Amino acid sequence: MINIPYNDTLAENHWNSKIKDRLVYRIKKVLRQGGVNSGKYKVRTQCRIFLNYLIKEDPAKLGDYPNLKELVISHPNRLREIIIEYKNDYPNLFIGSKNQTWSSFKRIIYNIFVDSCYELDKFFSKDEFISNIGIGTCSYCNRGYIYSVHSHSGDVKPQIDHFYPKSIYPFLGISYYNLIPSCSVCNGFGAKEENNPLNFIGKDAHGHLLYEELLKSPYELGLDDIKFTFKLLSPNLFGNFIKINIETPSKGYNRFLKLKQFYNGHTDHVEELIFKSKIKYPKSYRSSIENLFIAKGDPINTSFFYRILINNYILKDELHKRPLSKLYRDIALQLKLVTEKEITESR
Ligand SMILES: [Zn+2]
Repeated sequence: MINIPYNDTLAENHWNSKIKDRLVYRIKKVLRQGGVNSGKYKVRTQCRIFLNYLIKEDPAKLGDYPNLKELVISHPNRLREIIIEYKNDYPNLFIGSKNQTWSSFKRIIYNIFVDSCYELDKFFSKDEFISNIGIGTCSYCNRGYIYSVHSHSGDVKPQIDHFYPKSIYPFLGISYYNLIPSCSVCNGFGAKEENNPLNFIGKDAHGHLLYEELLKSPYELGLDDIKFTFKLLSPNLFGNFIKINIETPSKGYNRFLKLKQFYNGHTDHVEELIFKSKIKYPKSYRSSIENLFIAKGDPINTSFFYRILINNYILKDELHKRPLSKLYRDIALQLKLVTEKEITESR
């Protein structure tokens, strides 16, 4: 629900650091050996054509692999086109799901992109990947912090969700914009898991695949694609009389991520904001905060000012920093504790 800004420099570095060499090495090896798992899964025609397509070099610049690179660094909109192209060109790549036996083709691709690359720390450091992206909370729910802890008694490893699940689209197993830092709840059982953000619903008259988007990638989410409002169910403010509503662009936010249920466990936060709004913040309160800065000789720090006023980050670019910040922003606006104009014009 919190947007992650595109960063093509990071995506390019991701490709160039170790991923490119690793993938090319593995694909060539698999082609040479004719399979994986000591020959249990054999490279057959479609798979061979696909692997050769991936490692096709740019004739103008040998050592460049444009098809493979595109797969690794494309934005989500292009990844969806790639999925459709592959579905048409390599149907065997999609055989087998959660409880069904996978085709050898799918196994081999999973082996190359996931087992032999994504899962191996020497080629892909999850920790480094997440700290480079630099977001503070889960972009699916904005309820949990994203962090890792290293200690002698054991590391707490950060979580990464494959937006387009690796069990369905193993060829996106190491694609930069498909890897979403997330909290353990969203990445865990009963939540997003292996749920497919794309629901294929048939074909149009020209035979093109049609799909419904159940979730938007955090990279493609607009600021108010997800919006909170509250309703008082009784004039009595306290108790369980507050209902939080959440507007979402598609069904998956409640079906997979259970946002509505989770957020209705956070009505106490709304309660506090309502109470704050009753005080109506006399001008003198605001200016006394401002004067504190001036007294210290500092220019007023807008972000900090709002944190004192609203108790959370509410500026657009800072929403990722703390849990529930989007809820606070939306409810503060609804209560007119701040105005849209005021916070848009802030730094
Ligand atoms: Zn989450």
